[in-house]
Amino acid sequence: MSLKEGLQKLLKVQDVDLELKSLEEAKSKYPAEISRRQAEITRAEDGLKELTDRLEELERRRRHLERELDSAREQLKKLEARFSEVKTNKEYDALQLEVEACKNKMSEYEGEILEIIESGDGIREKVELETQDVGDLQQEQQARIDELQAKLDSLQGEVDGVESQRQAAIKGVDGSLLRSYENTRGGRGLTVAPVRKGSCGACYRQLPAQIKTIVRRSEEIVICESCGAIMAWDDESSKN
Ligand SMILES: [Zn+2]
Repeated sequence: MSLKEGLQKLLKVQDVDLELKSLEEAKSKYPAEISRRQAEITRAEDGLKELTDRLEELERRRRHLERELDSAREQLKKLEARFSEVKTNKEYDALQLEVEACKNKMSEYEGEILEIIESGDGIREKVELETQDVGDLQQEQQARIDELQAKLDSLQGEVDGVESQRQAAIKGVDGSLLRSYENTRGGRGLTVAPVRKGSCGACYRQLPAQIKTIVRRSEEIVICESCGAIMAWDDESSKN
């Protein structure tokens, strides 16, 4: 393959590469949005979990207090039964103190149980509301995530297609020419630029007549002094 043909092929490779680049750019936006939406779901779920954990903790505490209350009640019965056996005032006073202490403990337990029931009701109400909200959010975000994932998948399909086009386009292009193409970064996103009206097709800098001739004859690789693009001559380059 002559240098001229090679350069013309490179122009096609470049078209494919530009398409690939814009596909990759479009593709790169989706994963960030998907994980942002997933994080939103997780945050909502965590908030709900915190509430239900709190509720469970309160229930455990309430069951514990109720057991304590039961045994205090038993204790009180036993203490009260002993009144019939007391013989002295001193014994009576001591027993009375024990009874008081036991009753105090019981009313402490009852007080705390009431508090738990009250705040439990509040939390249960919140849980009910949030369960609904989280469900809505999950549904809404998941629908959008699925949509984004489908777009991502179809973009990937397009990328795969364009990549195989690229494989076909570079077939037969000289290795060193391909390397110069890969290593060059030209202006306006163009690495290889066709000559247009005697100027570089990427930056429009006028080419000196002598350089133009070299490009036209494709004697050697010419790099635009202004933007660094590899100069190529195609059918349209001859038109003025
Ligand atoms: Zn240029």
